[in-house]
Amino acid sequence: MKSHARAVVIGGGIVGCSVLYHLTKLGWKDVILCERKELTAGSSWHAAGGFHALNSDLNVSKLQAYTVRLYKEIQDLSGQDIGLHFTGGLNIAATRDRWDLLRADWARHRVLGLDTRLVGPAEIREMCPLIDVSEVIGALYDPMEGHLDPYGATHAFAKAARQNGAEIYRHTTVTELQSNADKSWNVITDQGTIVADHVINAGGLWAREVGQMAGVELPVVAMEHHYLLTDDLPEIESAVHEMPLILDLDGEIYLRQERSGVLLGVYEKEATPWALNGTPWDYGETELLPPHLERLTDSLEKGFRRFPSLANAGIRKVVNGPFTFSPDGNPLVGPVPGAPNFWAACGVMAGFAQGGGVGLALAQWMIEGEPEGDIYAMDVARFGSYATRPYAIARAREFYARRFQIAYPNEVWRAGRPTKTSAVYPDLKASNAVFGVSYGQEVPLFFASPGTIATENSTVRRSNAFPIVREECLASRHAFGLIDISSFGKYRVAGSNAGAALDHLLAGRLPDAGQIRLTPMLSPSGKLMGDLTTLCLTPEEYIVSGSGYLQGWHMRYFAAHLAAANATIENVTDHYGGFAVFGPKARAVLEALTAEDVSNDRFPFMTARRMAVGLSPAIVARLSVTGELGYEIYIPVLQMSATLDELKPLLKRYAGRWVGMYALNSMRLEKSFGIWSREFSRDYSPHAAGLGRFVDYKKPSFVGREAALRDRDTQPARRLVTLAIEADGADATGYEPIYRADKLIGFVTSGGFGHCVGTSLAMGYVDAEVQRESEELTVTLLGEPRGARLVHQALVDPSGSRMRS
Ligand SMILES: Cc1cc2nc3c(=O)[nH]c(=O)nc-3n(C[C@H](O)[C@H](O)[C@H](O)COP(=O)(O)OP(=O)(O)OC[C@H]3O[C@@H](n4cnc5c(N)ncnc54)[C@H](O)[C@@H]3O)c2cc1C
Repeated sequence: MKSHARAVVIGGGIVGCSVLYHLTKLGWKDVILCERKELTAGSSWHAAGGFHALNSDLNVSKLQAYTVRLYKEIQDLSGQDIGLHFTGGLNIAATRDRWDLLRADWARHRVLGLDTRLVGPAEIREMCPLIDVSEVIGALYDPMEGHLDPYGATHAFAKAARQNGAEIYRHTTVTELQSNADKSWNVITDQGTIVADHVINAGGLWAREVGQMAGVELPVVAMEHHYLLTDDLPEIESAVHEMPLILDLDGEIYLRQERSGVLLGVYEKEATPWALNGTPWDYGETELLPPHLERLTDSLEKGFRRFPSLANAGIRKVVNGPFTFSPDGNPLVGPVPGAPNFWAACGVMAGFAQGGGVGLALAQWMIEGEPEGDIYAMDVARFGSYATRPYAIARAREFYARRFQIAYPNEVWRAGRPTKTSAVYPDLKASNAVFGVSYGQEVPLFFASPGTIATENSTVRRSNAFPIVREECLASRHAFGLIDISSFGKYRVAGSNAGAALDHLLAGRLPDAGQIRLTPMLSPSGKLMGDLTTLCLTPEEYIVSGSGYLQGWHMRYFAAHLAAANATIENVTDHYGGFAVFGPKARAVLEALTAEDVSNDRFPFMTARRMAVGLSPAIVARLSVTGELGYEIYIPVLQMSATLDELKPLLKRYAGRWVGMYALNSMRLEKSFGIWSREFSRDYSPHAAGLGRFVDYKKPSFVGREAALRDRDTQPARRLVTLAIEADGADATGYEPIYRADKLIGFVTSGGFGHCVGTSLAMGYVDAEVQRESEELTVTLLGEPRGARLVHQALVDPSGSRMRS
């Protein structure tokens, strides 16, 4: 056994072996994998081996497509047969909503370059002789789906890694991890100790236990899952082609051909977590869990109505095995916050669809400093300390049980809520708020009418919120709107060196004392890492604010790049709650709460200061994402409620109203203001995203400067635009394709209805040469082409006079 290595991967399942292979592929040869038993001894050996590229997150989809494309290459490289069957796959719709969603997905696949197509019942029946199509509307067919031999695929990655120089130690259990001052790790195994610069947790079913060895609690939960193998079926025996993978969510069943029978599985509603007190170290390799077919009965009965011949098929084998879920079902990948050089590659629910992509992204991150694309949807930092063990269990159970239900774009899931609430949550509730969740915290989406039930109907079209959000927007533009902004991310940077440290971290020019500036943050390769707002209280104290759900992500990046003596950064999001008031009456509201002179002359746009608001010491920033005259008022959490008591009478006096995030989204679209994860993300550079004007290219040094200069001098292929769409009952949600005649010229990043301008709006990236407002464009909404046109000027107050008034 070697005593030193650049990296040690813990776990020889499909994910660990893929990580090992990709590390060697990208150039690290001095890498080791430790496996407790034999390779595949966790979940991997008993997987059904199905793979597909489709995922509701488009960046995860890209990585899944990469995984699928990789299999042939890895088989050829390693010489290991992986039993690859590219059968194609059918995703069946038997309800109108499911069909609408599949058609919308199909349109989005044009943007991704996936070769999917929509097929009707007759063609479905031709591909699958077992199905009764009497209730089927159609299906989405993806030729890139299929199945493989899990053992072969795992060993193929392992062999290819070995060929590149990696070493694999089987029957070597990692029992302890000790961190060293130089950020290396002592990886203590039952066969000896390896000192590693980096450790990767690919422990699968044991990932939580491996995390605990490094002092971190990862939100992964193992769930039981069954599939059945049938005896041979005459319809399959006589078929000319292999049957495609079938995912029939309305029928609550999935299946694929296995020899001349089928492998069929369900996601039972009675989701059952496994080994809640810790995965036993002696589990695995050949063991399975006792079957509980009674849990499957309801779903199977439904499935057999669609596939009648399965009802009488003999069952050859029943598999009940565990595999892990994160709270949202996506993997946990990347540098684990709080544990330097300890990397996560776990919580991978679909290892044979995602393992290749996870391995690639992680290896890029470790070796090149960042993954190529935006993989926030898989980033381990997307969960914070709120994601406790009970939270993770509740969420994993809900995710599992809902696998076969429609996930509506406007749906907020129920499990693990409420776990984190604003200090004025009871008031928000009493005002009939309908809540969403951001980084665990309940945030108001809109306020249902008094006397009605506070709920939003789940739909692919406009919901019952639509007319209410209109009222919220109109009140904001004509009187004032009030929103709880406690969930916004807030970071305090302080110390004698605070300015210099921030100046290096942020690409924008820092504000002077009392000023506010928009300050993009870049990665070393010049991609956007944050659309932050920086507020300077004194040259030694700054408040940086950004999207609240990115707190863990931001803090990890700050820790890595804000390395200066005499400068500290602290996440104060949970210390400061806050309200934003915006609209023509916003100043009158603030004046009623403070003795300070807040006239435009004394307190102009993009300035900030400390002042007493009501009885509370507050930091007040004069800006608003709505484009109205507005203020963000940050207040110590314990004083939020008292301040609200003083604010409430003003709602009546100035005809204001509570508003939620939906109204904010509508109003920012009317102003063509982009937001993070949509218009701005690691997928874009500042120049293409229209943020170049906030980058101070003259600064001698900042993270990403060289790349930013190159970006500035390059004409981007696509640019960010706003579109007005002739929508009918449904607005764009994101990634819908944009066409000029038949040519795909771009895609939507976000959309909604502009209630104050009376039109459906979207933002998106289009080919740079598409310039004229008169161009006739279309955007595909729920599968239907809708006329669209570019809007060059903000539709509300294009000169920005209101926010400066
Ligand atoms: C019934 C069933 C059907 C499935 N069907 C599919 C499917 O069709 N398609 C699909 O994509 N996915 C499927 N899955 C899910 C798939 O099996 C998992 O996503 C995948 O196996 C996860 O791989 P992994 O490498 O992360 O974890 P694992 O396979 O659990 O591997 C982790 C490895 O780490 C080792 N290990 C852990 N701790 C240590 C330590 N301290 N020291 C040394 N070694 C350690 C373990 O021995 C183990 O070999 C299915 C799962 C089940 C249960």
